[in-house]
This record gives sequence, C-alpha cells and structure tokens, in this order.
Amino acid sequence: MDYNILVNKDNPLPRAHIPNNLVITESKYKDNIYIDVKVKEAFDKLKNEALKYKYYIDIESGYRDYDYQEKIYNKLLEEKGFSYAITRIAEPGKSEHQTGLALDFCIYRDEKCYIEHEIEDFQETKWIHQNCHRYGFILRYPEGKEDITKYSYEPWHLRYVGNIARYIYDNNLTLEEYKERESKKI
Ligand SMILES: [Zn+2]
Repeated sequence: MDYNILVNKDNPLPRAHIPNNLVITESKYKDNIYIDVKVKEAFDKLKNEALKYKYYIDIESGYRDYDYQEKIYNKLLEEKGFSYAITRIAEPGKSEHQTGLALDFCIYRDEKCYIEHEIEDFQETKWIHQNCHRYGFILRYPEGKEDITKYSYEPWHLRYVGNIARYIYDNNLTLEEYKERESKKI
C-alpha cells in the first residue's frame, strides 16, 4: 500500500481500483463504513486520545467506491450545477475516498452529531487539526490552499499519509506541494 498516493483531478484512479486492506469500522454514525486497516488503527488512537478532553469524534465517511462516487457527484451536479459541484465533490475516480485512506470525521455533542461545515469553529476540530499529524493524518483541503488542491476548505476531511504527516504539518504543505518537493530531490 502506497500511503503517499496522490489522487486528485489530475491523478485519477481507474474504476476497477479497489484497495486490498479494507476493514469495517465501528462508527456510531453509520454502519458499514470501510477504511484501510492502518487508517482504522490510527483513527482509533486519535479518537481515544480525544476522549481525554471529552471530545467525541467518529467517522462519517470512509472508503467510497467508484460507482458510489459517480452517484453522489451526479446528484450534486444535477441539484447545483457544474461550477458548484466541481469544487466541492470529486468526480468519479478523482476522489481520495476511493483509496481507503481518506475519511470525513464528525463530532458528537450531547448525543447530536455535527458534520461538514457545522464543525468548522468547534474546539474539537481545532484540536484534531493540530494533533492528527501525530497519528499520520493531514488536513487534506486546508483553508488558503484552494488554488493548489482545487477544493474548497474541508475542515472534516482527513487523509492518512503515515510518517510524512509531521513534515507536511510542520511545513504547512498540501500533499501536492509535498510531492512536488519530493520530485525535485535527487
Ligand atoms: Zn471527504
């Protein structure tokens, strides 16, 4: 498994790409969410550490196959039009969720679950953004890097990259910028 794999609008995956190491999560949000086994282990540790601060986090979305991505992309396209859809949801094959290495987290407060932009100003979210690199995750679509990632700010979307996460965090990079730096090294 290549934990550094870059999937974006310029680097799509084929329809047939299905990751090998998927496992089911114990998400309270929804049944049958699958992610890569290492990503599950890492997220479980993050989730446990969060409990120390009484932060209740979980996985809202994990692995999504090509056909499912096609369905949700087409739905948004139909509802909101191309220019809206294209910066907010990946076209089929261009979603990191197809790698099994990406997840969207949600936050529980008083048994109510908050997702996506609802969590933007939560202290839990801030804590996750500042600490997830210790478990191998990066915030994949940060604010201010929209011209590089080609996505709107997504405070809920984490990507597992393993041990390069700290370097990416310390240098305030996106995965695109990291790959670019790496390609210039001899
Ligand atoms: Zn996502």
